[in-house]
Amino acid sequence: MDPRPTFLSIVVPVYNEEGAIDLFLGRLRPILQQQELGGYEIIFVNDGSRDKTLAVLEAHARQSSDIRIVDLSRNFGKEAALTAGIDHATGDAVIPIDVDLQDPPELIAEMLARWREGYDVVLAARNDRSSDTRFKRVTASLFYRIMLRLSDVEIPAQTGDFRLMDRRVVEALKLMPERARFMKGVFAWVGFRTSTIYFKREKRQAGEAQQSLGKLVRLAVDGIVSFTSLPLRIWSVIGAAIAAFSLLYMMFIVVRTVFMGADVPGYASLAVLILFFSGLILLSIGVLGEYLARIYIEVKQRPLYIVRDTQNFSNRMEIEGAEARHKAETGIAE
Ligand code: UDP
Ligand code: MG
Repeated sequence: MDPRPTFLSIVVPVYNEEGAIDLFLGRLRPILQQQELGGYEIIFVNDGSRDKTLAVLEAHARQSSDIRIVDLSRNFGKEAALTAGIDHATGDAVIPIDVDLQDPPELIAEMLARWREGYDVVLAARNDRSSDTRFKRVTASLFYRIMLRLSDVEIPAQTGDFRLMDRRVVEALKLMPERARFMKGVFAWVGFRTSTIYFKREKRQAGEAQQSLGKLVRLAVDGIVSFTSLPLRIWSVIGAAIAAFSLLYMMFIVVRTVFMGADVPGYASLAVLILFFSGLILLSIGVLGEYLARIYIEVKQRPLYIVRDTQNFSNRMEIEGAEARHKAETGIAE
């Protein structure tokens, strides 16, 4: 018999996705029902949607108890919504997934198989992003290359949030208190035994992409700033190099003035130098600001998200109850 209990939590952040939910459930449910599971829950985190998303979810939740809703008080962004869902998940394994079916739910079977083999994390990596726009592909690959150089945790390229995590990994994630969440980095930081499945990323099945360019840029900056300190340190190297160069230049000017007398022309070079160095200084202050802003945010210790309401969690047991519930549902002791 399988040594691991198998209550599965699926975590789905949704923001203005009224049109995507039915399609999503239609494809996900049969797959979950085919698996040999002790039970499963699908936790939708409504990330402050402005359309009828909540109403659609509530209709589903009334019909079946496998649907649970965490309704956030406003739009906190995908990373926070994901955290909220993972915090509420009671499963022995947790799988975050996008509602737009860009992460094929069919992979769940293979994820569970590898998990049963003993892997704590099963990553789904896209080896083909032809469905994404060219711009997104280029920027994403650039971002991963930069991160690989800069950071000491290895963030696996081409993976999204779609992955299976064992309960142990989820508990480790919860220990990470940081506010500026770059989930991919946080996931990589906690480590554990990891296996990777490759798949082709599909087109969005319904609705519009909700992650705007601005949000993705913000996320990239978050990723770099929260997982490397190179942008901070690089200024001492640049500063030292420039100081050394200026010293040489200064000696050159002094010697030249002594031997050839003062020469007044030189306006152009001065202007260029002043502009160049003011630019550098402003840039380095900006980098300091990025880190300072983050320190400020962390120090405030605000919660990552606020829950307005939850539904269908009445039958939920606390984390330590996951085992007990598993026994109750399957009659199998650990
Ligand atoms: N999402 C969210 N809050 C947001 C933006 C997006 O919960 O502020 C959800 C969205 O509903 C979807 C998932 O995050 O389930 C991925 O969003 P999207 O497809 O827009 O991102 P992309 O596929 O471009 O990364
Ligand atoms: Mg998408």
